[in-house]
Amino acid sequence: MLLTLTLFWHASPTISYAVENPSKREAIVDLRILETTDLHAHLVNYDYYQSKVDNRVGLVKTATLIQQAKNEVKNSLLFDNGDHLKGNPLGEFLARIKGIQKGKIHPVYRAFNYLKYDVIAIGNHELNYGLHFINTALKGARMPVVNANVYQVKEDKPYFKPYVILKRTVVDLQGKQHVLNIGVIGFMPPQIMKWDKANLEGKVVAKPIVATAKKYVPIMKAKGADIIIALAHTGISSEPYNPEMENAGYYLTQIPGIDAILTGHSHGIFPGPIFARLPHTDLMNGQINGKPVVMAGSFGNSLGVIDLVLEENAGKWKVIKGTSQTRPVADENGNPLVKTDKALYRLIQNEHQETVDFIKKLGL
Ligand SMILES: [Zn+2]
Repeated sequence: MLLTLTLFWHASPTISYAVENPSKREAIVDLRILETTDLHAHLVNYDYYQSKVDNRVGLVKTATLIQQAKNEVKNSLLFDNGDHLKGNPLGEFLARIKGIQKGKIHPVYRAFNYLKYDVIAIGNHELNYGLHFINTALKGARMPVVNANVYQVKEDKPYFKPYVILKRTVVDLQGKQHVLNIGVIGFMPPQIMKWDKANLEGKVVAKPIVATAKKYVPIMKAKGADIIIALAHTGISSEPYNPEMENAGYYLTQIPGIDAILTGHSHGIFPGPIFARLPHTDLMNGQINGKPVVMAGSFGNSLGVIDLVLEENAGKWKVIKGTSQTRPVADENGNPLVKTDKALYRLIQNEHQETVDFIKKLGL
């Protein structure tokens, strides 16, 4: 008791000085990270199989959540985590019937350009129509596109851009501006070599996700990344570690230097009850092994939100807190929770209508 009291009396003035001394704690920045994933060409809130409106899906709905989430904060970034081109009749119509005419932009990338995505990742389904199609379509994307674990066969180097380091001016809690170097890296399941053998064999090879992350994180740090965000088109599984694993999100949380993990591929919601039994997982705060993780469902049904708190000390930035949540576009009964982004709808309505007309013509 005596010892505690003595320590208390001696230590107290020093502690309060340390907290108040501005040179010790230079800046605190709140940074919001937004995720869409596995859109599978669901641009419109429409079910092409049943020819009717479906308010549970569609980027025209998620877009409204994106604008709301951006308006709530000073600093935000928007990412797509892949599987955005294929998976519904609109995607099929564009790839197999209409094609991408010279100088024209695929409506998915037209939508991404309009919403000003900062970086997008490639998912496994982007490769389903062959490398020529994805390379042609990507010419219309006005933001960096990343994937680090698909390699060229001939030269041992990444097929896509493995990562980018974004320079972004952010505003701290005092209103002061800082330039942050934000590293963003992308991954997809190495199983693409089985799933898309005919398209990929002899052209590319896929490397394991976790090993690739461990290779690039130190490189990105050496190139000046203050923080690193993983656009991981992979699910979350606690199955024992295996280098070739399809769903490696859990093991990415254990890599020092990665500060936030955007997952997807398995179309689940994280944080959410299906992950209740995952070890070292905090569903209240959206963390696995203390790292913020998010998975925003599929088809635009939810927006993923990660909120980071960054602290600068002697010119070095550190994430001191990271939490996540998802926000749905509709309630459990399919009633809309947000309005349609009409400007976005107008940008893509031609292709939507062409798809509807094509299905009608087929008599489906
Ligand atoms: Zn998917």
